[in-house]
Amino acid sequence: MGEVLPSPVGPRATTSPGGGAVVLPSPAAAGEGPSTRITRVGAVPWSVPRVGQVRGVDVLVVGAGFAGAVIAERLASQAGKRVLVCDRRPHVAGNAHDHLDEAGILVHQYGPHIFHTSAARVVAYLSQFTEWRPYEHRVLAQVDGRLLPVPISRATVNQLYGLELPDEAACAAWFASVAEPVAQVRNSEDIVVSKVGRALYEKFVRNYTRKQWGLDPSELDASVLARIAPRTNDDVRYFTDSFQAMPRDGYTAMFERILAHPNITVRLGVDYRELIGVVPFQTMVYTGPIDEFFGMQFGKLPYRSLEFRHETLPVDRVQPVAVVNFPNDHDYTRRTEFKHLTGQAHARTSVVYEFPRATGDPYYPVPRPENAALYRKYRELAQQTPDTFFAGRLATYQYYDMHQVVGQALTVFGEIAMARAGRPASPLAGRDRVLG
Ligand code: FAD
Ligand code: UDP
Repeated sequence: MGEVLPSPVGPRATTSPGGGAVVLPSPAAAGEGPSTRITRVGAVPWSVPRVGQVRGVDVLVVGAGFAGAVIAERLASQAGKRVLVCDRRPHVAGNAHDHLDEAGILVHQYGPHIFHTSAARVVAYLSQFTEWRPYEHRVLAQVDGRLLPVPISRATVNQLYGLELPDEAACAAWFASVAEPVAQVRNSEDIVVSKVGRALYEKFVRNYTRKQWGLDPSELDASVLARIAPRTNDDVRYFTDSFQAMPRDGYTAMFERILAHPNITVRLGVDYRELIGVVPFQTMVYTGPIDEFFGMQFGKLPYRSLEFRHETLPVDRVQPVAVVNFPNDHDYTRRTEFKHLTGQAHARTSVVYEFPRATGDPYYPVPRPENAALYRKYRELAQQTPDTFFAGRLATYQYYDMHQVVGQALTVFGEIAMARAGRPASPLAGRDRVLG
């Protein structure tokens, strides 16, 4: 390890939402020399409990989200490595974590996670660990007092303006009649007004984006709004990928299976810095925020945060689709009703509201040129850090969806395997490509 990090702190305890306390004694207090021990008190039904000593591993994986779990599983099952996965949260699955709430309804703790991909290798990989429930996501936006489909499509404009555009050609001609000419598409305002004009931009995009990012669309890369590109057809599905489904038993159950390999030890509620100098390892895989890893020495990379307000309501269903967006009303951006995603039958229903925040847990890299430039400085440092690999949405500062992180993780595993076999591999090679 080339990186010098603070030595382990003393005893600490965290209490998980599941009611379990995770206690990590300091090595001195435990009298255990170089290894340490985790004691789990109480049941944490969704965790992967591993009690016992870890006397040294081949690889320390920081983060039990998609990036960390997939790389750990590959290293354990394909390369025979002993892997220790730690996460400072008290659960696995990172931002995709789901659990039963107090009403017994399966909810996504960190907002709605809908799986979609066109990458066969990603589907093949994850299908080893889960069955799937077919699900095609639909989103409605509350605009002018009505619920209208997004992304903007022929269906949207027909409903909004009472038009009867009969086909794609008619819709394309209508979009062309309202579009604003833009010589070069440079940002997220350009990409929308150049296709569908200013009126639709202002109804559906401008205010939602300002609320979500704290920035005007003109201050964000075009890639942000390219995620929900307008359509001339009346396909009202949110995603058009060839594979759209939810893990049948939920994300956390899938992660428990991914991490269930005998070569993998999982420690939850543990920051990796507590393990440095305590658990010997040869290679590190880091999936947390890259600026934090390097002590923010070039300054803080902006990550957008969210506050989640979960509620259970005494009705069977509260909205017609899983997600309703509120571009122009309320402080929250959207409300998600989970039973649409999971298919769960229950007399009550649970929803989550998302309130964008400038501070708090890092959820979104903020795609704009100055942030990409700052990230590149950290990436250069990362490339010079021996035996350490960076992967995932926070560590490579990419606005990746789950399938893209899985694709990246499979690629990074290949790089680690090559490096371990004595062949040179840059710790960041391929990391900024989406290799589904
Ligand atoms: P994470 O899931 O963030 O995992 C990183 C882990 O590292 C975290 O658990 C963190 O606690 C841990 N960690 C960080 N630092 C340390 C440390 N010092 N020590 C120990 N552990 C540490 N994608 C989709 O495909 N479809 C969707 O519908 C979708 N919806 C989303 C909705 C929201 C609100 C958000 C925020 C994201 C959404 N995503 C969606 C994106 C998806 O969450 C990510 O692509 C994916 O979870 C990223 O996985 P990861 O492993 O890179 O990061
Ligand atoms: N967006 C918008 N209006 C909407 C939905 C999305 O302006 O009704 C913009 C907004 O800037 C958002 C981006 O499109 O951040 C990407 O939307 P997506 O649903 O992919 O966001 P995520 O699910 O990642 O939060």
